[in-house]
Amino acid sequence: MLSRRAKNIQPSPTLSLAAKAKELKAEGNDVISLTVGEPDWNTFPEVVDVAIESMKSGNTKYVPPVGIPALRKAIAEDYNTKFSTNYSDVNVSVSTGAKFILFAAFQAVIDPGDEVIIPSPFWVSYPEMVTLAEGVPVVVKCDKESRFKMTPQLLESSITEKTKMVLLNSPSNPTGMVYSQSELKALAEVLKKHPNILVLSDDIYNLLVFNERGLAPHLLEACPELESRTICVNGASKAYSMTGWRVGWALGPKEVIKAMGSYQSQSVSCASGFSQEASLYALKNTEDKVRASVEVLKQRKQKLSDKLNAIDGIEVEEPEGAFYIWLNVLGIQGKSYKGKKLESSSDVAKQLLDDEMVATVPGDAFGLDGYLRLSYALSEERGLEACDRIANFCSQLS
Ligand code: PMP
Ligand code: GLU
Repeated sequence: MLSRRAKNIQPSPTLSLAAKAKELKAEGNDVISLTVGEPDWNTFPEVVDVAIESMKSGNTKYVPPVGIPALRKAIAEDYNTKFSTNYSDVNVSVSTGAKFILFAAFQAVIDPGDEVIIPSPFWVSYPEMVTLAEGVPVVVKCDKESRFKMTPQLLESSITEKTKMVLLNSPSNPTGMVYSQSELKALAEVLKKHPNILVLSDDIYNLLVFNERGLAPHLLEACPELESRTICVNGASKAYSMTGWRVGWALGPKEVIKAMGSYQSQSVSCASGFSQEASLYALKNTEDKVRASVEVLKQRKQKLSDKLNAIDGIEVEEPEGAFYIWLNVLGIQGKSYKGKKLESSSDVAKQLLDDEMVATVPGDAFGLDGYLRLSYALSEERGLEACDRIANFCSQLS
């Protein structure tokens, strides 16, 4: 009955694991979920007020498939101010979350057989989306030495005649690593030698960074000439804690944006108008609030990291942004827990959930075994309690 496409598609492991943790909780278990990447604070109240007012004033109908004009304009101005780009509203498309925007972007530019270079560890949905566009995900393993980031050498050696696109995500989900300006410059030097390759820069966490500037360095600052072949993706979900509002956007070449718009108009129609009005407000008026959230995340990250690093056999790969801890568990893989050998990070994650009720996402979901992703977007108290449970777990290994 099912299409080949449907037979092969896997559900998002991050969403599935989060659902599993919720189920266990509903059954009365004291689960601490470090699974889903979703801020724990509420959408800022004045943003909610804007949406309510918008609904009350009748903004409850279809709006343009590429987004409301005021938001498109504001998104273009936002990037131009931050990164000295040259975007206008025709370079911007808004739709139902960055996830669908990514999906539409792949659909707009990938032909069957086109290769897309995806640095690993990667966010779970990239390879599936590329496959659904009939492209070929080329997963390039980036190791601890390069802080799990793509190097110019790796990039150069992964490029073939079929390479259509290279994906970058900084800060990274799942590692929280951030590319520096000089690392981006070095990657840009390679890309300059290959003028037909497009870049997709997933910037969804770029305000959630622990540097002075409160903004991650961007490829287009490092190399403005790549603007004509780069698609930037961003949205309201993470920085403004608006995951359920489903508003994401892309900035890119006019023809790509136009094609994405057609795709959007034939699939989801539009993101809701009042969500877009609220996102517009958030984008323009909440910089101080985002900074305050980042400060909380930074302190929480430090406390949890200190606690985790004190446990024998595991090690935090110090994140520079987002709200994930990329926990190195190579030191406990191969050990036994209550007579059961932990062969992989999936075994570690499963046992942690079964015996300590701590839900994490194993590294293989992100293309790299030997690690767990811990989302610390939860209360500090529960986060610290999770660390105690992990310590208890590790103390029983032999
Ligand atoms: N990119 C990355 C790297 C993410 O972690 C997420 C989170 N789901 C998204 C894109 C999509 O975000 P959303 O659809 O909620 O805007
Ligand atoms: N990006 C989040 C995560 O990685 C949300 C879940 C998802 O969209 O897969 O947990």
